[in-house]
Amino acid sequence: MSDCIFCKIASGEAKARIVLDDGDLVAFLDLNPQAPTHVLIVPKKHIAKLSDAVPEDEAMLGRIQLAAAKIAAQMGIGDGFRLVVNNGRKAGQAVDHLHYHLLGGRRLQWPPG
Ligand code: 5GP
Ligand code: ZN
Repeated sequence: MSDCIFCKIASGEAKARIVLDDGDLVAFLDLNPQAPTHVLIVPKKHIAKLSDAVPEDEAMLGRIQLAAAKIAAQMGIGDGFRLVVNNGRKAGQAVDHLHYHLLGGRRLQWPPG
């Protein structure tokens, strides 16, 4: 989608600090980190939110979780990290392109706010 910031990052049109690019998905540092390590993992395909994903997205969604664990290990937070999806405004979603927040590097509270 032409006016979507995460599509632009995925295509290289907008700058971000990329930590992984595997063809189907891209991971980059969050601009406004909420933890010492805060990475966003997004599919290159524009999907507005998780509840818009369809069965053909299943493999890519699985790959995102495996990528998250791999990135966490590479970034030294393999022993404690959180993978979060905000789905919809009510849940705090601000960017309408599916993204997974990978957070770690500090003690994370539960329940989340
Ligand atoms: P949401 O609230 O939609 O779940 O999370 C959106 C996240 O995207 C926020 O953590 C915000 O800091 C991050 N973000 C928004 N715009 C940009 C951008 O242009 N570049 C990067 N790297 N992160 C962004
Ligand atoms: Zn997009």
